Amino acid sequence: MEYKYEELLDRVWTNLPDELKSTSRFEMPEIKTNIQGKQTYIMNFNEIADAFQREPQHVLLYIIKELAAPATYDGKKAIIQRRLRQSMLQEKIKKYAEEYVFCHECHRPDTKVAELKGEKIIKCTACGGWWPLKKIK
Ligand SMILES: [Zn+2]
Repeated sequence: MEYKYEELLDRVWTNLPDELKSTSRFEMPEIKTNIQGKQTYIMNFNEIADAFQREPQHVLLYIIKELAAPATYDGKKAIIQRRLRQSMLQEKIKKYAEEYVFCHECHRPDTKVAELKGEKIIKCTACGGWWPLKKIK
């Protein structure tokens, strides 16, 4: 009997006892902001990206497009060229997580960026579900 790689992966997951699948509880990281002049810093930006297991640059790109404001990342904090409320930025981070981190099927955060036939996808390691990685335009 032959299985394709993806089918095999699915079988592996299906056959795992439930307790081996990740059940880690995930709390949306709280962003810490600081306004300096006309800039807003996200002080713990590296921790946010870590918690999501995504490239900080990817999260930053999303923020830039959503806010239409230039921003940079210095390895720890994000610096946005606009004065912004913490709650507004938190909302953007939440939206990012809904699109790029939380599984669209089982809603767990155990997802990673993978490739399928040359296309980037986000794959859930908990349920095996996946969806295309939407390009940030
Ligand atoms: Zn899932």
